[in-house]
Amino acid sequence: MTDIQKESFARSSARIYMRLLGYVKAYWVPFAISIVGFAIFASSQPAMAWVLKYFVDGLNTGDNALFFGVPMIWGFPLFIIAVAFYQGIGSFLGNYYIAKVSLGVVHDLRTALFNNFLTLPNSYFDAHSSGHLVSRVTFNVSMVTGAATDAIKVIFREGLSVIFLFAYLLWMNWQLTLVLMAILPVIGVMVNSTSKKFRSQSKKIQTAMGDVTHVTSETIQGYRVVRSFGGERYESERFGKASENNRVRGLKMTRTGAVYTPTLQLVTYSAMAVVMFLVLFLRGDSSVGDLVSYITAAALIPKPIRQLSEVSANIQKGIAAAESVFEQLDEEPELDQGTLEREQVSGQLDVSDLGFVYPGTDKPVLMDISFSVKPGQMVALVGRSGSGKSTLANLIPRFYNHDDGQIRLDSVPVEQYRLRNLRHHIALVGQNVTLFNDTIANNIAYGDLAGAPLEDIKAAAEAAYAKEFIDMLPQGFDTMVGENGVLLSGGQRQRLAIARALLKDAPVLILDEATSALDTESERHIQAALDRVMQGRTTLVIAHRLSTIEKADTILVMDQGRIVERGSHAELLALNGYYARLHSMQFEEEKQG
Ligand code: ATP
Ligand code: MG
Repeated sequence: MTDIQKESFARSSARIYMRLLGYVKAYWVPFAISIVGFAIFASSQPAMAWVLKYFVDGLNTGDNALFFGVPMIWGFPLFIIAVAFYQGIGSFLGNYYIAKVSLGVVHDLRTALFNNFLTLPNSYFDAHSSGHLVSRVTFNVSMVTGAATDAIKVIFREGLSVIFLFAYLLWMNWQLTLVLMAILPVIGVMVNSTSKKFRSQSKKIQTAMGDVTHVTSETIQGYRVVRSFGGERYESERFGKASENNRVRGLKMTRTGAVYTPTLQLVTYSAMAVVMFLVLFLRGDSSVGDLVSYITAAALIPKPIRQLSEVSANIQKGIAAAESVFEQLDEEPELDQGTLEREQVSGQLDVSDLGFVYPGTDKPVLMDISFSVKPGQMVALVGRSGSGKSTLANLIPRFYNHDDGQIRLDSVPVEQYRLRNLRHHIALVGQNVTLFNDTIANNIAYGDLAGAPLEDIKAAAEAAYAKEFIDMLPQGFDTMVGENGVLLSGGQRQRLAIARALLKDAPVLILDEATSALDTESERHIQAALDRVMQGRTTLVIAHRLSTIEKADTILVMDQGRIVERGSHAELLALNGYYARLHSMQFEEEKQG
């Protein structure tokens, strides 16, 4: 590193640390109490050394010596107990209140991170693995408190102890003590050199931990695929590698620390040896008690100094963790520059010259898309897999921002609506159904719909043709569905998702392959239900099975991001083009199947 780099590195550490302290600011009262506690604790440190002086001298002068006007035999024990009591109170106040601060900071940071997740754009989740994000909330945040509070605890407790002990030593024999102080810079230099190594290594170990979480959660979530495709060995090796990586890095970090601490100890003990020599050399007219007391106090110093030296590693670790936490907190939230809020929209949807490229890629996924849907109309999107149907559906509620062209809802470009308001008007059933580990009723009435009357939930379930199977479940609407609904069949999950969308009763309804997992019988029922709910609202249906969309007002046939044909079912068949081919192919399949 050049000097300039070093400087900016130090500055950024300082900035991160200051920002971290900003979180501590909210807890300044318990923080102040804990510092007072540590000060009490530290001030008791020289007391024992001090009492030894009188004890040893008292032994020489005989049993009648007085201590605080009390015979020595009572005075010393009582004094020692009193010191222990005083120290105990300090220790309690310090530790308890600093814990209050640190747990508070963990809570605040964790909550801030979690709430930040709720504002990030879709593309952020596309680009980051969930394991790393989860480990940031659980692991990194608690590492951060190492810097925010544990370090402060040591700095104040041990730092003040050192100050009090030095003050005592200076008072006892200042010449000797000055010699002792000359050794401090040596220790300082050593501390500095190792701390940097620690910081880079601890950042690496965090990434390694993220890999472990990532592989684990992926395997757990995908255990069916792992088993049925014989992926056990691959996953086991992948995990083994990640875990091994973590082990090696952890060991490396410990090794740095393990070499560092004893080296430092050697330095301090050599310093002690020099002190011993000097004490004997410079003893002058000091009494035996003075010498014993001096050496005792001096011997108490290495331990706090060693802890102080470790503090910098602790701070570095915390700063590395804090850096990644703040990095995420600084991520741009979903773009929401719209100001318009409409209580109600009619659902008129106009798309013109729409083009789209996924962020971070350069291949256009949608080109020159134009179409209009009037309220009460149904538009169907068909086309090969990968032709861009889901992408188009996701642009309407602005899960991604389009670059070219316009999407207008009630003649207003969708960017001009406030995001929440825009999404309020759209009910989307995605290709991948997401259910929460909660009851059926709570899954249908999710989010803004929470607290909807049970009759409405039942009506929505009925309309989605889900009530029949729900009534057969042991606890009906109160049945828990398991993580992401594993306790339900694919078709059942889809019907719950449709029920959720129907309960939302939004003027724009988007169904992305929503009926693909249903048998012909259920599909027919849902079709009938949809016919009913489509009245007066705009419906966009994406389907592979053409039988579901024959009644659509307009069918848009997509291929490689463009609309290649459009018209009604009959018109498209008459055209005898792309759609007609798709149709005859599926017709053949169904006849055979
Ligand atoms: P299917 O019928 O299989 O659902 P689709 O028509 O819905 O297909 P899209 O999901 O819209 O297809 O995908 C269109 C193209 O965009 C594909 O080539 C895909 O690789 C790409 N794509 C999809 N999602 C992303 C994403 N999050 N980031 C980058 N590219 C993506
Ligand atoms: Mg799709």
